[in-house]
Order: sequence, then C-alpha cells, then structure tokens
Amino acid sequence: MHSSDSGRPEAADASPVCPRCADTGVSTVAHSPVPGVWQVLQCARCLYMWRTTEPARRTRREDYPLQFRLTEHDIATATEVPAVPALRAR
Ligand SMILES: [Zn+2]
Repeated sequence: MHSSDSGRPEAADASPVCPRCADTGVSTVAHSPVPGVWQVLQCARCLYMWRTTEPARRTRREDYPLQFRLTEHDIATATEVPAVPALRAR
C-alpha cells in the first residue's frame, strides 16, 4: 500500500502565495527589528502587502475573504484608476 500521496506536506512558508490574487511572485520587503519575528511581504502582481504576523484572513489565500479575492482576469480587466488632474493655474 502506498500512503505517500495522501499526506502531501504543506510548504506554507517556503513558497508564499499572495492572499489576494494567489500569485507566487511574493518578495520580502521588510524584516522585524528583532530578527525572525515577522516579515513584511509584497505581491509583485497586485501589490498587496502584509505582515506575516497578521491574522490568517489577511495572510492566507484559503482564509482571505472571498469578496476581496482577485484573479488574473480581475486584474487584467480592472477599471483604470483616474489620473490626478493638473494643478489649477493661480
Ligand atoms: Zn497579489
């Protein structure tokens, strides 16, 4: 009997995915003053940032609120953010 396929180990910290858009292009942008306590991570695709000590609903794709999740399609078809208008002449 083979049991190796049933209990696949979770590599939670080895390869983090973005909680909001599930992209794997996550980089570490800051470390805690006391080393090893937390990191601030950022998604390269949707720019979402989170600290690793935040609650699971902010740090894990599985627990991120459904209504705020993004897909690649959502990002590609997102409404353009309006440009900041030029300053008015005095
Ligand atoms: Zn993302």
